[in-house]
Amino acid sequence: MKKKWLIGNWKMHGNLASNKALVGGILAAVPSLHEQVSIAVCPPFPYLYQLAELTRDTYLGFGAQNVSDHLQGAYTGETSPLMVKELGGSYAIIGHSERRQYQGENDGLMGRKALAAIDAGLIPVICVGETAEERDSGRTHEVLARQLDAAFGYIRTAHDKIILAYEPRWAIGTGIAATPEIVQSEHEFLRQRIAIRDKAFAAKLPIVYGGSVKSSNAASIFSMPDVDGGLIGSAALNAQEFVTIYGELL
Ligand code: PEP
Repeated sequence: MKKKWLIGNWKMHGNLASNKALVGGILAAVPSLHEQVSIAVCPPFPYLYQLAELTRDTYLGFGAQNVSDHLQGAYTGETSPLMVKELGGSYAIIGHSERRQYQGENDGLMGRKALAAIDAGLIPVICVGETAEERDSGRTHEVLARQLDAAFGYIRTAHDKIILAYEPRWAIGTGIAATPEIVQSEHEFLRQRIAIRDKAFAAKLPIVYGGSVKSSNAASIFSMPDVDGGLIGSAALNAQEFVTIYGELL
């Protein structure tokens, strides 16, 4: 079996009690992990330390939903990827569409953040995806290529610990996932685009899909050959849903 990833993005949800119940629910339902799968959850920043405690000596990894593009300095309100790493985190979601939409993040910043995450020893989960309007006007590939090229303008394919997430904006939090055919076609496009830089890197780059994945549609999406796992939002807040989605990866 090819290696797979399942990453939960908790967004701005949770509290000490519900986080504990959620992690406990996942670990109780899946006591040990298939060796070819990595699972992680990304809580809001204040709960990273709690996650470090809850996941200690378990297979469950954790990461941040965002990091600074700097490692240290006078950047009030920012969080260094080094701090996430020091707590035991392994991942950083970079360029999530909600940050592009509400925090004004752009392609260049995404590339610098991905590089900072790599420099700190984290695995960046680089998100790319088009809006409904961009898709409807036939600009999906133009947008994906621009976002991808911006990120890879900063990072090198020699950095082999990178995950790419295809997250069409119109599918995030809407309950309407992209069809498995659309997901496959866009993952294929992204892989081909990366192959222009480095064929071997492109072949092994994990590309995960995110956008309204749930237990009822995970199997068909994960069955596509270029899908290496999922980035899960709402459904990651329910242990049973998350664990069932994990089961569809196997
Ligand atoms: C996300 O936030 O990355 C996401 C994919 O959300 P949802 O699964 O809720 O669409």
